[in-house]
Amino acid sequence: MGITEVQCRSILTRASGYLREVCSHSLNPYTGCGFGRSACGVGCYVRHNTWLTKGRDWGAFVDVKTNAPEIYLKTCEAEQRWAHRRGRPFSVFFSSSTEPWQPLEKKYRITRQLLAAMQVHPPDELILQTHSTAMLDDLSIVAELSRRCRLRVHVSIEGDTERLPGLPPPPASVTGRIELLRQLSSAGIFAVACLSPLYPMKRPESFFEQLAEVGVDAVVIDHFIEGDGTAEGSRTLKTELPGSMAAMDSESTHLGYRDRIAAIAQSYLPVGISASGFAGHYSKS
Ligand code: SF4
Repeated sequence: MGITEVQCRSILTRASGYLREVCSHSLNPYTGCGFGRSACGVGCYVRHNTWLTKGRDWGAFVDVKTNAPEIYLKTCEAEQRWAHRRGRPFSVFFSSSTEPWQPLEKKYRITRQLLAAMQVHPPDELILQTHSTAMLDDLSIVAELSRRCRLRVHVSIEGDTERLPGLPPPPASVTGRIELLRQLSSAGIFAVACLSPLYPMKRPESFFEQLAEVGVDAVVIDHFIEGDGTAEGSRTLKTELPGSMAAMDSESTHLGYRDRIAAIAQSYLPVGISASGFAGHYSKS
């Protein structure tokens, strides 16, 4: 793993592409991801971003933005005014292209320092996205921030399958991530389970029933088709993920599978689909 400490010039990136629907800004405390060689790294949409990877192998590098909290505090008011001039809230997606609670966070605590900076100057809306149960290290600060701004936590949990055939293990077990959702909900934090990208499911009814029981507020269902930045899922089709999904259930590699699972989920919880779901738009049957 190549670890580089870097000084960033900016930390709040004005949203473009599909993210415009979701937030006004994205915020990435690291570049690269220490979970890049786990299961989620195989289908990770970011690995295809050559501007970001600069030719480096996904999962083999992390740049640590050591001055990110300081730059947040220097620039947040101007960026908030920029968003307000456009008639929208200052809404921060944390993070769009890295994992805030990846293994190096235990050493550097950039995410924790950024959350502390946000306590000084909160955004209007904050969306925290994670695959990692290490977020529990910061549960109290997240709960405190959720009283200062509209906050929701997106926990990536691709389905009820712990391991897909031929893929490495995930960053955290399905059971661990359900427990994370339970603890978020118990702390009064708006908790969203993001099935992104959706994996083949064994028992969707009991999975969504369990999510409802632990207090999850909503579910987002996102397929690699339409979800990986291409209409046909062509980026993901170049990876091992579709073959591994098809080995479990050949139907799961088609977009219709997303809609079938979403219809089941709607019997239990409010459901959002792909970008609109990430933006916080849900419906229930
Ligand atoms: S944790 Fe997130 S950013 Fe890291 S490899 Fe997995 S999907 Fe990509």
